[in-house]
Amino acid sequence: MTDVGASQSQPVTDEISSAMLHNSGLFLKKAAEEIAGHNDAHDKAFDVDCATLTTVFMQVAVELASTALVLKHEGFAGVTRPKNCPASIADAKALWKSGNIRTLNFEDIKPKAARYLGDATFWSAVDMLQRSRNKLVHFHSPLIEGDRIDLRYEVTHVLLQVIAALCKTEDHQFAFGAMELLGLELFHRLVRFEPYQERSAARAREIGPQPHRCGCCGAKAYLRDEDTCIACGYSSDEIFLRCPSCHDRAVFYDHLNLELNDWLEAHCSQCRWKGKAVQCSSCGDDYLIDENEWRCRICRGCRGSGTDR
Ligand SMILES: [Zn+2]
Ligand SMILES: [Zn+2]
Ligand SMILES: [Zn+2]
Repeated sequence: MTDVGASQSQPVTDEISSAMLHNSGLFLKKAAEEIAGHNDAHDKAFDVDCATLTTVFMQVAVELASTALVLKHEGFAGVTRPKNCPASIADAKALWKSGNIRTLNFEDIKPKAARYLGDATFWSAVDMLQRSRNKLVHFHSPLIEGDRIDLRYEVTHVLLQVIAALCKTEDHQFAFGAMELLGLELFHRLVRFEPYQERSAARAREIGPQPHRCGCCGAKAYLRDEDTCIACGYSSDEIFLRCPSCHDRAVFYDHLNLELNDWLEAHCSQCRWKGKAVQCSSCGDDYLIDENEWRCRICRGCRGSGTDR
């Protein structure tokens, strides 16, 4: 082998890749805080400075995540020019430690990253983000009031899409999605902003007739055909159960795979309760139990039916 193949250097690329994904999450969170900060102060305009900061944070986050995923799947050869590709694992480690890994620029990474991240809608959102960022950062373009409202809606929308796209990739800290990443409070401040909900509802009405009210964020933006809320990204694939500890509807678990397992780990994003999710083999409902409680796949309702319930 002449260069560092993907399989041979797996531990190093995995290590670097997860560090980059972690940082991508930091920037996304920063962007969300910036937007949510403005959501609190009702009349405060989403001004050019705020728009500049959020688009830059998000752009950095997307670039980091894209590079991380290509690196993870294709090794160093996927993210560097041949002449800059580390010759050995030791070489790669040394370059990383000294901060000298020279990666391709984002335009070259993008088509490769599209193999592992997002869909067409996601990448057109990224292009939109790049254009806004260029306008704001390089030209400090003045934005008229209408544009600012548009932008505030767009950045929230793109931000959630970025997180959603990252959630679909396996085995890292994005596994439990936007709420886990942002924390329930920040997530709610972001998506419960009224103008954002109204805009999302209007868009949902354009896509499908009579969208439902989303059980997660409360926007009337839940599309039945697609089983997804376009305001917060909630889909019935991801079901939240009520937490036995704090009573918020905020417990995450892998609903889709639950049927195939006796139980799966479940976490409350609000109070950090941890336990197990089980699908009742009798009625098919998902329910939660404490970590040491598992006996069989029959929920309390079915176990007690005919007697005390
Ligand atoms: Zn929603
Ligand atoms: Zn809880
Ligand atoms: Zn049952």
